[in-house]
Amino acid sequence: MCIFCKIINKEIPSNIELENDDFLAFHDINPKAPVHILAIPKLHVDSFNEVTPQMMSGMTAFIQEVAKKVGIDKSGYRVITNIGENGGQEVGHLHFHIIGGAKLKWGHFSDSDPKNMF
Ligand code: 5GP
Ligand code: ZN
Repeated sequence: MCIFCKIINKEIPSNIELENDDFLAFHDINPKAPVHILAIPKLHVDSFNEVTPQMMSGMTAFIQEVAKKVGIDKSGYRVITNIGENGGQEVGHLHFHIIGGAKLKWGHFSDSDPKNMF
């Protein structure tokens, strides 16, 4: 079972921000900005490559709800999903980074760039 499936099953503790029947949002263990939340489907999907439009429909509404709940919907934020090796995906369970709480930099797209987003 993958690490995020273990978080879904509460076998690994996490700081949960929002949860419903289909999705879970929890704070990233290594935040890159003042707000850094991961939104994941409870059904294991490897990456964005495999997700269905049906699942994305619910995911979109869920991400919007998370942003509102943590108060970054008005100030703005960024949603990122890394895909595969070149995309820098480290955990093989589809996840969307919801990042905000500060003015974010743009242009950290290769390993030679600093990873800090603000
Ligand atoms: P990726 O590089 O795959 O797009 O992002 C994986 C993210 O998961 C990273 O930002 C990393 O900090 C986060 N992460 C990895 N393991 C854990 C964990 O056990 N708990 C939490 N909350 N975040 C994790
Ligand atoms: Zn999984």
